[in-house]
Amino acid sequence: MAEPKKKKIVSAESGEVVTSVPKKPQVVQAAPVGNATGLRVGAIVLWVLAFVFEILAICILFGKIQWTFMPQLYQLILFIVLDMACVIIGSQLWKKANHIKPASEKNPTLFWLWNNMGVIVACLAFVPFIILLLTNKNVDKKTKTIATIAAVIALLIAGGTSVDYNPVSAEQQQAAMEAISESVFWSPFGKVYHTYVVLDETGEVVECCPHLNRSEQLTTGTVEEAIAAGRTRLCSYCAKHDAITGVATDNVDVSDYVPEDVVETVEDAAETAETEADEAA
Ligand SMILES: [Zn+2]
Repeated sequence: MAEPKKKKIVSAESGEVVTSVPKKPQVVQAAPVGNATGLRVGAIVLWVLAFVFEILAICILFGKIQWTFMPQLYQLILFIVLDMACVIIGSQLWKKANHIKPASEKNPTLFWLWNNMGVIVACLAFVPFIILLLTNKNVDKKTKTIATIAAVIALLIAGGTSVDYNPVSAEQQQAAMEAISESVFWSPFGKVYHTYVVLDETGEVVECCPHLNRSEQLTTGTVEEAIAAGRTRLCSYCAKHDAITGVATDNVDVSDYVPEDVVETVEDAAETAETEADEAA
């Protein structure tokens, strides 16, 4: 690790030298990167369990399992909830494994499937049950309505929490590890990691990225650890400040993914509408 840069910070109001940032965040070390294979095995075991619970719910639906101590609706809801819990926890383990050992993006289809495995499992764990429930003629109307609503809500929750909103590829991870050899920092609720944090000899924060100003605690570690912790991108402010290129950042510019002619058409349409409104007035 390079020596931390020392800079004088001068207060704009008094002109005096300020030696510290207003609020000093505490810096803690990142937890070691876990074992991706272990996490994947855990995810698959939980997903298999989810399918078992779905099959049990289907058995109840067709009267193959008859418990007298509990109404049929409660039995269905119990297995829907157990099914949902297994899908959700399994997907979190799977996402974590993908952040530790990301898939290559060389094959886009495989990369998509690998990153969306949790969502696919969520669909398989609920859609067959929902179809069989809706087409079942032996279940009373009230049970059918409530169980369908419960299963659809469970599907939405399980599917929504299984999406990886910050996917990372093996290539992105490699590029980030090659470009950044120093420690990086992230806040408890932040979605990105930062490079611009200057510590003094005692490990206290002297200067940092403005996006970290309000954080009470920062975690520090390697880029690999930051990505494993779900911070898959570099803060764009830090990238500019520390002149880091070739690393995925959080910089989202509309013109990056909307073709220029579309932007122009939208602007033209807005202008025409404005002129028409003026004329009408
Ligand atoms: Zn930053």
